[in-house]
Amino acid sequence: MDLNERAKLKGYYEKFRDKVRLLDKVLTKKKDTLNIMSVNEAFESNMKELENDPEFMSIIKGTPSPESPVPISMLDGFGRTIDYLRISVTDRCNLRCLYCMPNEGVGWIPHEDVLRFEEVLRICRILAGMGIKSVRVTGGEPLLRQGLAGFISGLKAVKGINSVGLTSNGVLLGEQLEALSKAGLDALNISVDTLDNEKFTRLTRTENMVNIISAVDQALETGFEVKVNTLMIKGVNEDEITTIAGLAKTRKIAARFIELMPLGEAASFKPFYAHEAAALIEKEYGPLLPVAAKLGNGPAEYYAINGFAGHIGFISPMSRRFCKNCNKLRLTASGFLKLCLSGEQGIDLRGLVRRGASDEEISGLIRGQIAMKPAGHSFNKSGGVENGGSVNMFRIGG
Ligand code: SAM
Repeated sequence: MDLNERAKLKGYYEKFRDKVRLLDKVLTKKKDTLNIMSVNEAFESNMKELENDPEFMSIIKGTPSPESPVPISMLDGFGRTIDYLRISVTDRCNLRCLYCMPNEGVGWIPHEDVLRFEEVLRICRILAGMGIKSVRVTGGEPLLRQGLAGFISGLKAVKGINSVGLTSNGVLLGEQLEALSKAGLDALNISVDTLDNEKFTRLTRTENMVNIISAVDQALETGFEVKVNTLMIKGVNEDEITTIAGLAKTRKIAARFIELMPLGEAASFKPFYAHEAAALIEKEYGPLLPVAAKLGNGPAEYYAINGFAGHIGFISPMSRRFCKNCNKLRLTASGFLKLCLSGEQGIDLRGLVRRGASDEEISGLIRGQIAMKPAGHSFNKSGGVENGGSVNMFRIGG
């Protein structure tokens, strides 16, 4: 798509966005002094005009044009294609990581406010129809949710979804691997912040440590594509980075190192940056060689090391602001579709689903939201955040 086409498209989006804002106003202020009739009339007549425009309608319906294989409905206002959904199935967790949960007063989402699996599947069908291709199930700890394997099979059956992944802390993995494999799960991300028992107990405020290396090996043997994710915290685990990277020497895994974002509790910890980790790894194992092929669906940058079976990856939200290629939406356990990890923009899909909104109404509103996806997160390098920073990751779905 050339620049002119993109500019034209952006213009259309802006027009559409204004209409959606107007409609939102009408819906939310129904009983206020607003003159609903005249707003509605203006909206109707504008919509009629636009409905007679075939190009606009192809945007609204998300019909791919012959030149562009991407459903236009999933292009945001910055030309990014949104095709990846992260689904949190619970905010409960069997660990209580210092950087992710407060010590007291967690304030769990009431059970009746957590989306039922059939509600999530309906939302996924709508989103897949619009262009979402990959999903990742997370939490809280997703393996705590009853009936997860059945839900994974449900996701695998959604037309248009071609990859289903899961992010877990690994504690319950051993007992669920087989069921997850039978359900058709494609990929597993296992969070490993430390291999040290005592540090684990301090960091997670629990004694739930399992033999995580054997969990990784079992997952590989079961046939999963495995990534090991290490959140880097200065003064806490930078001394283990080379050991964890070394897991990729004989294993076909990606060992990925993630920069801490100043969300909620995490704001009182210091990040350790990707370039610092890269220097430690290179000193120990030799040069990191960039991998040209796209691996995975997310923002990680991957490297090979001579003699390593697996890869090393870095996710650098703070030092490299990965947002320019962001392709993601997030559905929280309570059914809020978030446009960005930081900030509060998004749409309450639970409300829509439970009040009986049609698929068309829901997809139309989602489309309007996608057009408004922000350019980037609002965390800044010094650990500050402009808005939305008080919410911990377990609540959003990491
Ligand atoms: N319980 C699962 C697990 O441990 O993988 C899934 C949920 S957990 C919130 C997902 C990931 O988010 C973990 O790897 C965790 O380290 C990461 N995470 C939590 N808080 C974070 C933060 N402030 N910045 C970056 N990553 C964070």
